[in-house]
Amino acid sequence: MYKNSIIIIFCEECGEKNRIVSGNMSGRTISIKCIRCKEELNISGSSISESARIGGESKFISNLVLEYRGKTIEVNNKRTCVTMGRRDDNDLVIDDRRASRLHAFIEYRDGRYVLSDQSTNGTCVLLKGRRGVILKKEEIIINNSGVIGLGIVVKSNSPRAIRFSITV
Ligand SMILES: [Zn+2]
Repeated sequence: MYKNSIIIIFCEECGEKNRIVSGNMSGRTISIKCIRCKEELNISGSSISESARIGGESKFISNLVLEYRGKTIEVNNKRTCVTMGRRDDNDLVIDDRRASRLHAFIEYRDGRYVLSDQSTNGTCVLLKGRRGVILKKEEIIINNSGVIGLGIVVKSNSPRAIRFSITV
């Protein structure tokens, strides 16, 4: 199902929102350049978790923590997908009419955290230190930390924002 989806990768140099067909990303050594400044995009950097040898076996140790109005949920190699939306069977239930029933999900995929918008009104994503973007049926790799707004534009200090941070 992800073969034809568009994934967005921010350029660390100029902040450009590069759109890439995610089917092209199956190999980890692929080189993709920014459409604006031609810098090589850092796909493998902070979005790929480090593995640590523990007890002779490789084990991912990265973890994403989502926080919304006092509730926290983790996404990692054990719990690999978290859904967000207005319907009460979502992992994170958003009590806001602008949120769709199933609005978006975050998936841990090949060592990356991918936020995927499924909604009518779109998803606002503000990664720390970057300009905000609106996703419409698109995916984005998220890293470090930031805030997410479902159907609403959020700022870093917005009380309606869903906050996330990734630790490696
Ligand atoms: Zn660039």
